Amino acid sequence: MNSADMPIRGTAAACSPGIMIGHLQKVSSGEFPIPERHIEADRVAAEITRFEQAVADSVADFDRERHHLIGLESQEPLHILDSQRMMLLDAELGRKVIDNIRTQCINAEWAVHRQIQDIASVFDRIDDVYLRARKSDIQHIGRRILSNLAGCDQEVLPINTNDEPLVVAGEDFTPIDVLRLWRRGVTGFISEKGGPSAHSIIIARGIGMTALMGVDGIIQQISDGDRIIIDGEQGVWIINPSPASEEEYRTRASGVQRVTHDLQVYAALASRSSDGHPLLLMANLELEEELPQAREHGIEGVGLYRTEFLLSVAEQLPNEEMHYQHYARVMAAMQGLPVTFRLMDIGGEKPLLFEQFTGHRVIAANPALGLRGIRLLLHNEAMLQDQLRALLRASRHGELQILVPMVSRVEEMQEVRRQLAVCADELGITRMPSLGAMIEVPAAVMIADSLAEVCDFFSIGTNDLIQYTLAADRADEEVAYLYDTAHPALEPMLRLCVRSAHKAGIPIAMCGELAADLKWTELLMNMGFDSLSMGLHHVLPVRKHLACLNYRPET
Ligand code: PEP
Ligand code: MG
Repeated sequence: MNSADMPIRGTAAACSPGIMIGHLQKVSSGEFPIPERHIEADRVAAEITRFEQAVADSVADFDRERHHLIGLESQEPLHILDSQRMMLLDAELGRKVIDNIRTQCINAEWAVHRQIQDIASVFDRIDDVYLRARKSDIQHIGRRILSNLAGCDQEVLPINTNDEPLVVAGEDFTPIDVLRLWRRGVTGFISEKGGPSAHSIIIARGIGMTALMGVDGIIQQISDGDRIIIDGEQGVWIINPSPASEEEYRTRASGVQRVTHDLQVYAALASRSSDGHPLLLMANLELEEELPQAREHGIEGVGLYRTEFLLSVAEQLPNEEMHYQHYARVMAAMQGLPVTFRLMDIGGEKPLLFEQFTGHRVIAANPALGLRGIRLLLHNEAMLQDQLRALLRASRHGELQILVPMVSRVEEMQEVRRQLAVCADELGITRMPSLGAMIEVPAAVMIADSLAEVCDFFSIGTNDLIQYTLAADRADEEVAYLYDTAHPALEPMLRLCVRSAHKAGIPIAMCGELAADLKWTELLMNMGFDSLSMGLHHVLPVRKHLACLNYRPET
């Protein structure tokens, strides 16, 4: 125990499964200062040695991470590490840094920084998407060497080498950070920024990490090595708990495990109300790693596969073949269950690696209102067509649907449909997959009647619909109190969408987080939703709840 050894306790929005008891490690984020100074000629040799040692330490960092990744089903992280390690050992880089130290009499940090900037600016000028994307690799390598020169690792996320669970605390964690932490054996995280609907937390739920986001001021209150309890279900955190509370939470954690175990009986049952009304329960998935366990949760299909997360493990912007291989694996793992793939929803809160891969700017002044989802795809037709062609090819392996993100105009759906038809024609595919719109922008609700005429199904994305309707950023803890599912604006909007879908005779699903909220199950069923799609861990609790409800359709 470190933080004055006194228990400190707080609450945050409950946003992930499970209870985690472990020790804490802080993670710093952001840029760090680079000292620039001239050195005496007799310091040159020592400075070169410092640089060489930092490179050797950086290679060791890579090797340590590499070792940790061996055994993962996905090979992508290993490939990324190996290619970066090769760049780190590039003789040209080392020679130029050493030349700079020697001829300019400058310290190693300055020489590294200069060299990295020089290389990065060359990449900027190259008119080749793949090569330009290597710029971020070189910057990453530069940061790693600089970290080691500083004598402390400011770049590498922690790896859990203990049996004891490790929880990391930081200012903010992006979805990619979460994946990287998970791959390093970290079992939970707590952050100052973010909220219960942030993508990072959605990912955490998907992979079963316990986490709390939006815990303002936590960093000031903790020290490395502190013990911590995170109750993701109740939104409680305790630093340096007393032995009595640790015991209490251990008991509760085994209670949670027991409940999970007892729910397994529902995995084999169909999703029906007590009087037999069907309401399909599907899974929201993002990662291949989730596939092996998905079927154990008794899902009736995948209602939302967030394909943009392919970018979080890829080394380049996925081409048609990479997309296809991925989707074919998903279809095979689902063994005949229907799968709804959402076209890549890049932008907004998820810039992902798009910018590095393509050199195109995606972080707008107001990202949530900028080039995001279908808007971005329609600006990058080759990318859209690669994905459509891959999905069409994968549709030969089973029941596949395509979902379009961030639709706000009828013309967007018409254009996607037109391009889908062109691609199908080229591929000789005659059985077209269903094409549906995400309803997650208030304008889409208001034009739901006309949209329904050009869609085969609707899926309501409440995470964004709430954000855009209430003008409350889904990931901003400062306005989390306004991001309110009980706001009276929401229910009539849902009803409008259901009515339009029914009028046009198309199915309607919900794939936002609200779909997993037990307080809403009865209302959503009675409104007329055909299916609900949610994080894997929610499927069985919702099925159990549904089995106690009676269907009373709204007229
Ligand atoms: C939504 O907006 O509700 C949704 C499901 O999409 P995402 O959370 O990926 O934005
Ligand atoms: Mg959305």
